[in-house]
Amino acid sequence: MNKLSIGDLDLNGKRVLMRVDFNVPLANGRVADDTRIAAALDSIRYVLDNGGSVVLMSHLGRPKGKVDVELRLDPVAGRLEELLDCPVMKLNDCTGPGVEPAAEALRPGGVLLLENLRFHPEEEEGDEGFAKKLASLGDLYVDDAFGTCHRAHASVAVVPRLMDKAAAGFLLQKEIEYLGKAIADPEKPYAAILGGAKVSDKILVIENLLKKVDAVIIGGGMAYTFLKAQGKPIGTSKLEADRVDVAKDLLAKAQAAGVDILLPIDHVVAEKFEPDATSRVVDDIPNGWIALDIGPRTIELFSDKLKDTRTVIWNGPMGVFEMPAFAKGTEAIAKVLANSDATTIIGGGDTAAAVNQLGLADKMSHISTGGGASLEFLEGKELPGIAALSDK
Ligand code: AMP
Repeated sequence: MNKLSIGDLDLNGKRVLMRVDFNVPLANGRVADDTRIAAALDSIRYVLDNGGSVVLMSHLGRPKGKVDVELRLDPVAGRLEELLDCPVMKLNDCTGPGVEPAAEALRPGGVLLLENLRFHPEEEEGDEGFAKKLASLGDLYVDDAFGTCHRAHASVAVVPRLMDKAAAGFLLQKEIEYLGKAIADPEKPYAAILGGAKVSDKILVIENLLKKVDAVIIGGGMAYTFLKAQGKPIGTSKLEADRVDVAKDLLAKAQAAGVDILLPIDHVVAEKFEPDATSRVVDDIPNGWIALDIGPRTIELFSDKLKDTRTVIWNGPMGVFEMPAFAKGTEAIAKVLANSDATTIIGGGDTAAAVNQLGLADKMSHISTGGGASLEFLEGKELPGIAALSDK
């Protein structure tokens, strides 16, 4: 990695302004899932153990530039305090009177948590003045919030440029290493598995990956636009009619590039989009039926293709995995990857949720913490939050 990482910094006596992703689900004023807080602990502890102090900043939800009392970070501060087992001072704003003095009063080992950045519209606008105020709160900058690195927001893309040194935290470093290798120097054979709801979200990913992979495996709702492009019957399955031509074009490009594209050859179809709808397995989707999962022969076809791969990237479930009747395809693929010796990289969002739900997370090489960010990375785009970090 050509960007500075947290391990390269001299932290002794330094105040580190750290962008973290504490955008956690809340329920009844409490943190309902602390995975993201726990994930940031390594970088936070590393700074504290090496003689530094931390000023943490994050967004939470979508307050749209206004104070929303439901989206204050107090429950996060409480949970962080428990996990870190040390006091966390939480402020009621991220800039303004009281914030600078509190930051200046921090001593080595101290932890300060700023209020939700998105209470200020300037955060999402990438405002320079707002960024300057944030930047004044630390001596060094660390970003450990991969999930927002594709956004040119003030705390992500502007603050690091205003500071002496800006480095990737451990989480971000791992993202850059795994995703970077998958783009620049993957071990072959290399397969991409793409699924989920929409083709439109993944067109650019497929286009970019066609230059690198040996096979693209397509399942989930997006597969049906491709099957339509091949003239196959799709019943009432998910279709993006305005993307059929794009799908045709991608199939042609894959063929020209010598890349295998694998599509479902059988399906679990249902009478309607409901968890307990009547369902059956078919090769050809009958009129009026909706395909909600890949079928057993498809599972076999996909699994077979994955057998000899050395690198696999997976983004998007193979079916409506939230409904147990249509989760088998996603489960089967997750198990194949869990038992594989290949480098397995799981895109964030729903795919990560599915793998977690199955208890297979620790069997994967890397689970990305950013859905949108990992897609943009795989599209080959430079993410503003990574570009803004200091070069080594
Ligand atoms: P994405 O956010 O694009 O990764 O899409 C994930 C969503 O796609 C999940 O909520 C799945 O339920 C949904 N999905 C997967 N397969 C299908 C399908 N065959 N029909 C409709 N939705 C699907």
